[in-house]
Formats: sequence, C-alpha cells, structure tokens
Amino acid sequence: MEQISPFDNALAQLASVSDMLDIEPEYYEMLKSPRREVTVSLPIKLSDGTITTYRGYRIQHNNARGPYKGGIRYHPSVSIDEVKALAMWMTWKAAIIDIPFGGAKGGITADPTRMKLDDLERLTRKFVDGIERDIGPEVDIPAPDMGTNPQTMGWIMNEYSKLRGHNVPAAVTGKPLELGGSEGRISATGRGVAICTREAVKKYLRKDLKEVTVAVQGFGNVGSYTVKTLMELGAKMVAISDVGGGARPKSNSGHFEEPFEVLYSNSMKYGSISKLPSAEPISNEELLESEADILIPAALENQITDENVRDIRAKVVVEAANGPTTPVADKMLEKQGVRLIPDVLVNSGGVLVSYFEWVQNLNRDHWREEEISNRLETKMNQAFHQVLDYAEKENVDLRRAALALAVDKVAKAMRLAGWH
Ligand code: NAD
Repeated sequence: MEQISPFDNALAQLASVSDMLDIEPEYYEMLKSPRREVTVSLPIKLSDGTITTYRGYRIQHNNARGPYKGGIRYHPSVSIDEVKALAMWMTWKAAIIDIPFGGAKGGITADPTRMKLDDLERLTRKFVDGIERDIGPEVDIPAPDMGTNPQTMGWIMNEYSKLRGHNVPAAVTGKPLELGGSEGRISATGRGVAICTREAVKKYLRKDLKEVTVAVQGFGNVGSYTVKTLMELGAKMVAISDVGGGARPKSNSGHFEEPFEVLYSNSMKYGSISKLPSAEPISNEELLESEADILIPAALENQITDENVRDIRAKVVVEAANGPTTPVADKMLEKQGVRLIPDVLVNSGGVLVSYFEWVQNLNRDHWREEEISNRLETKMNQAFHQVLDYAEKENVDLRRAALALAVDKVAKAMRLAGWH
C-alpha cells in the first residue's frame, strides 16, 4: 500500500507545479518548509486527578501576502507532519480565494470526544499561554478545524485578551456571535463546497444539481452544511457517513427523503448517521465506492488511495476535506476520467468568512447574513472560474491549475517585498 505522509503529499503537489512557473530557486526552497514551527508541551492535571502531558503545535508556513491564518485541530492522530501540510495548504488557499493572509495551522494530539469540558478548556488556555507570543490579530489568527468549535475559539479569545489586558476579538475567528463572531461562519465551508459542486456539475456533467446524486463522507461541520446546502439546492443524497459508519437510505427512491433537520437530529439522537432507522448501515469503504454522480470526502486525509481508487464510481470528486486523495490515487482518477475539484479551492469558503470576521472585528462592525452570503457566492464563483480558465489555458488538471495560481501569487508577493 502507498505510504504517504500528508506533508510528503503537500511537497509532491508543490513539485508538480514547479516546472509550470518561473520561480527563483531560492523562493521555491523557502516555500518547501514552514518559516516557523512552534511545539509546546502541555502538562495538565485532569479533573479525575491524573496528570497528562499533551503536545501542541503552531506551524507558520508563509506570510508574504498577510498575517498567518489557519485552524486548530484537536484529534488523536495530530502530528507535526500533518500540521505542516495543513499550514502549507492554508497559504495556497488564501491566495486562491484572494484574501490578504498567509498560511498557518495548529493542533493538539488529543481526543476531545473523550475529554471533559473543563479539561478541554484548561488544555486550550494552556495552549494559548504557550503560543501567546506567536499569535495575534496582525501576526497569526487561529480558527476552528476538526475537533474544535466556536466555544474553543471563545476560550482562545478570552485567554489571549487576559494576557494582553484588553479585549482582542480579532485575535481569533470562528467565535460565537456574542463574542464578535460573524454571521454565516459556521456554515461557510460547507456552503462553499456546495457552490463548487454546483459549478462543477454545470461544467462537467452539463446538469443542474437537481438532476444529480451525491455521497458525502463525514457529517461534522463541513459535511453537514455541505449536505444541508446541497439538499436545499435539490441534489439527491444517496449515502452519508461519520466516524461510526455510513448510511444508505432504505427508501424506494434510493435517496434520503426526510428533511436535513430530521437527518441531522436523528444522527445526534442515535449517536451516528449509520444508526438511522430509515437507512441501511454501510461501511466507510462502501460509501466511497457508492453509485453516485458526485463523491464528497469531508472527513480525513488519505481516504482515496491506490487501494480503493479503481472502485470509485463517481464522475466528479469534490474534495471538501484537506488532502483526502493521495498523489497516486489523484493520477489514477484522472486516467479513469474522474474529474477532481481540489481541496485548496473547494474548502476555502471557511477561511474566506474568517477573513470577513477579522475585518468586521478590526472595524468594530457587524455585517448582515445576506451580505456575507453574497460576498461568499461572488468570491467562490470567481475563484472556481479563475482556476477553471487557467486549467483550460494551460491544459492541466484543476489541482495543478489551483496550485500554480496560488504559488505564483505568493512568489510575486515575496519578490515585490524583496524577500531573500
Ligand atoms: P468535524 O470534526 O466537525 O467533523 C469531522 C467528521 O468526520 C465527523 O462527522 C466525524 O464523525 C467524521 N469522521 C471522522 N473519522 C472518520 C472516518 N474514519 N470515516 C468517516 N468519517 C469520519 O471536522 P470538520 O471541521 O467538518 O472538518 C472536516 C475536514 O474539512 C477536515 O479535513 C478539515 O481540515 C477540513 N476543513 C474544515 C474547515 C472548517 O471550517 N471546519 C475548513 C476547511 C477545511
């Protein structure tokens, strides 16, 4: 089986566009490694009296286009290698969606689903104490990712503000509305995924969303809002999964007929979408191999690999998660005629609305949801079509087009600022 670390994957992707661009070797070398890697040790006395030492990371890849920006992930599999890859992808993402940020990422190797709320709060505050000098509204602005949520961001804002001696809402995005969060932030990534899916369906299948079937892996923040928005636009969901397994509807129509709210509340009630009474349980492998027009991986890295790529039956893969396709699987999908819409474009709606939140905080302003929604629609559409036009002009796939556009923009900023 293909052994691939997320960072090797990110480096292979960067290498795949180096021959398309005229970048100074010095800049190319700088882009291969993060500018800063911060590791902190976090010993915590847990509420059951035991002492555990967690490891936290903040990796800052590049800030040529603006302050570092990127989420914080709490997951048992978090490693420095994974966070380095995610930080590099953030640099490309901010460039593609065209906002003045660089790329960073953070994480703690911990399983938040097994921790008490008090312990999670203490761990989060200790992490902020550890990276306090490395973050800030003009330096590096964290946000949520897997295993973290608006509550986590509220703790981060409060701890950072305490250390500064005044309220600093722009220090972190993805906060609750009451603490200066933005309308539309929670749904932003999923809605952006749905916009890209709609455009891809128009372009490659020459259809409307109402005429297509979709399978989604992951039913967390990104997966659930992707399903919700796609269902609102008329797409038919034929399989959904979460960490507990997948579900395929028992209905004669072959798609989920209940409204999204019912699907979601039942998945909460039974603990997993796979336990829905209206559905037949399937494995996550079966979900990926679903008979659906569109496959949307919205959970983890390295899900479509050289082992299962031949069994992918979708015509279009829309990468909502970061790095769900390994480099070998990527090439094989292309040979199989499957269109792939790359992660750095597809899931950039989250960092886009994070940027809107930061701008509102700096200006002490609050925009209406309609305004956020219109801006998201405009920017996602522009980015999608810019990548598409570039791919057609250069005769390359969308991943290489998106990366080449991004790397070129970042290198231009480095050149104009005179980096050496
Ligand atoms: P989340 O923690 O809210 O949800 C993750 C989902 O994946 C859950 O439903 C979980 O049950 C499921 N899952 C976990 N392991 C699984 C497995 N082995 N098989 C199937 N499902 C599994 O996380 P999220 O914020 O939705 O992030 C999902 C992906 O999207 C990640 O790759 C993340 O980096 C990326 N992303 C998130 C955002 C954001 O705004 N939240 C923005 C950009 C990219």
